[in-house]
Amino acid sequence: MADEHVGQVAGVLAEKGEATSEEIARELGVKQKFVRIVLQGLYSSRAVSCRRIKDSETGWISYRWRLEPSRVLERLERAKRALLRETKGELRHEREAMFFACEEGCTRAEFGEAMDLGFRCPHCGGELHEFDNDGIVRALEGRVERLERDLERDGA
Ligand SMILES: [Zn+2]
Repeated sequence: MADEHVGQVAGVLAEKGEATSEEIARELGVKQKFVRIVLQGLYSSRAVSCRRIKDSETGWISYRWRLEPSRVLERLERAKRALLRETKGELRHEREAMFFACEEGCTRAEFGEAMDLGFRCPHCGGELHEFDNDGIVRALEGRVERLERDLERDGA
C-alpha cells in the first residue's frame, strides 16, 4: 500500500471528519474497492475507527470512518524514533570507521575492503585515498539534532 494513497484517504477523513468509503472514493475519483483496501490497512494499524450505521427507513447499513489522531501520531512518532536510532547508528559508524575513496568518487570503502581491493578502484582503476567524511558526519549530526528536537517538541 503506497504511502501517498494512505495520505490521500487520511486527508479526506481529516477534512470531512467522518465519511463512508463511497464518499472518499467519489472525492478522490478512485474505485471504492481501492479505498476499502486502504481503510482496512489503516484499520488494522488502528489509525482509523469505524461506526456502523443503520438507516431507520431503508434498513441499509453503512460504515462511517474517522481518523484516530492519537493513533496516527503514535505511528508517526514510532517511525521517527526508529529513524533516529538508525541515524545514530550510521553516525557512530561514520565516526569510528576509516574510509577510502577514489578521485572519481565511484568507490567508497572501509579499510579492510580497501585493502582487499589493493587500494585500487574496481571501476575507474584509480588509487583509493583516505576519505575525509567530515561532511557526512556533520550532515548526520544535523539530522539527529532535528529528529531529537522534533520528538521533544511532540512531548515525547
Ligand atoms: Zn573510481
